[in-house]
Amino acid sequence: MSPELDAKLCADYPLIFDITAAVDPDAPALLSSFAAWGFECGDGWYDLIDALCWNLQQATKNGGPQVVASQVKEKFGGLRFHVSAPSEEQIRMIELAETMSARLCEIRGNRGKLIQTNWVRTRCSEHEGGD
Ligand SMILES: [Zn+2]
Repeated sequence: MSPELDAKLCADYPLIFDITAAVDPDAPALLSSFAAWGFECGDGWYDLIDALCWNLQQATKNGGPQVVASQVKEKFGGLRFHVSAPSEEQIRMIELAETMSARLCEIRGNRGKLIQTNWVRTRCSEHEGGD
């Protein structure tokens, strides 16, 4: 993801994208994959991640836990959004976003589909040939 969009998500959802959060309380120096690598996916999923985070924080305001991202990446053409200790409601929000990601071009966010070349990616017809 571009540095600008990465920074915007971190600024809008500082409690979810807390890169200082320790993965293991017993090993505070051990940072998460998210802290090390940031958003490991394309700009096309920015709106999807933004909408997901907005809903996750609404759930927190309504009494749910505060989730903290440990890894956000593309795998097999879909979004993988790993967080600490989500509620059942938050798990369902994440599952919906992950399902939708396989229908949205990872480059621009318009309608896409899973395509297989050397590996599986989600792309619209315009970006089918490229990465
Ligand atoms: Zn595209």
